[in-house]
Amino acid sequence: MRKISVFGATGSIGQNTIDLIDRNPSAYDVVALTGGANIEQLARDAKRLNADIAITAHPDRLEDLRAALAGSDVEVAAGANALAEAAARPADWVMSAIVGAAGLQPGLTALEQGATLALANKETLVCAGTLVLDTARKHNARLLPVDSEHSAVFQALVGEDMASVERIIITASGGAFRDWPMSKLASATVEQASSHPNWNMGQRITIDSASMFNKALEVIETREFFGISPDMIEVIVHPESIVHAMVGFNDGAVMAHMGAPDMRHAIGYALNWPKRQTLPVERLNLAKLGQLRFQEPDENRYPALRLAREVMERGGLSGAVFNGAKECALDHFIAGRIGFLDMADIVAAVLDRFDAQDNHIDAPMTLDNVLQTDHLARIWVDNAVAQRAGK
Ligand code: NDP
Ligand code: MG
Repeated sequence: MRKISVFGATGSIGQNTIDLIDRNPSAYDVVALTGGANIEQLARDAKRLNADIAITAHPDRLEDLRAALAGSDVEVAAGANALAEAAARPADWVMSAIVGAAGLQPGLTALEQGATLALANKETLVCAGTLVLDTARKHNARLLPVDSEHSAVFQALVGEDMASVERIIITASGGAFRDWPMSKLASATVEQASSHPNWNMGQRITIDSASMFNKALEVIETREFFGISPDMIEVIVHPESIVHAMVGFNDGAVMAHMGAPDMRHAIGYALNWPKRQTLPVERLNLAKLGQLRFQEPDENRYPALRLAREVMERGGLSGAVFNGAKECALDHFIAGRIGFLDMADIVAAVLDRFDAQDNHIDAPMTLDNVLQTDHLARIWVDNAVAQRAGK
């Protein structure tokens, strides 16, 4: 039996992972399941899967979790330290599906144990790519991509030599506002931004898809994961979300990965790797689909894509600035304090401010420096939002 843990078990990726575990429970020995506010779901899954330990990120919900698991032999714990301790429990395979920079530390700890880390949490590589990759190398741990585009690239590269790769093209659906006129975007509401045309995901990544911040993070994630230079990475808008990514080779061939937009494919690929196993994913009927469309993304419409290029040029801790600022701007948008287009404006201003400050971005990439940078970026976003409100 493989020992496995799921970080962010109560979320969209976490629940899809558990759906796959549930289909073959005797193959897995579940070590740790973690969640946040959704105590009921966490307790239900921990009990059913007979997990060793269930952890909520919120210390004030510990007693609720204890009550929900009363009578079972699942251990309970709460808070960031408990998450880190749970991540240190030996496991063969760990799903990293906490949302945001909060997923970084548990993922790093799992790598330090030599676990295979299935990485849905793209923020991990955006904030701390070098640190994460060095940690994996040092502990002989493996990282497997779960983000659909990166899983697609990973699959297209099986048996290939990176030296013959000319470019990696990741697709973007265009999100909720693909067909909106630019003039309407400034007044887009949280509710409107929270519905995705093709994918069913957590609210934060869904809004990030509408603003293309999600794609911006993925471009940086591509650079880190596959170690290729930024000018070899392209983004193309593909409204149907059937082609997830393409790899272009030096002989002119382009390998495209296609599939229904269902995250259980990428999760299952990482779970069963290096083998493939039957997965409960809808099979494509291309004749029924009829056509697949592709369009150049407009960087005026999606300034996040331009910012991703700037972040890759600056390097160092600028990924942590970018992600922290983006997460905090998103919090303010969700809370109704700023408009949809303000998010990119504010993130751009915070990146410039960091750039102008001595050598902050060039400080060594330690976990402390990444977390401090993330924290400072959030404070600067808070200040920028307060200033706007005061105007
Ligand atoms: P969800 O919001 O659906 O789930 C997030 C999970 O993290 C939940 O278990 C949540 O707990 C938990 N959580 C929230 N805040 C914290 C915190 N501060 N500390 C610890 N745990 C926390 O997100 P998704 O499943 O959509 O996304 C998860 C990650 O995967 C993200 O990084 C996202 O970018 C990435 N991803 C997601 C895809 C998707 O299809 N959804 C596709 C590709 C990548 P609770 O809900 O109980 O509060
Ligand atoms: Mg993706």
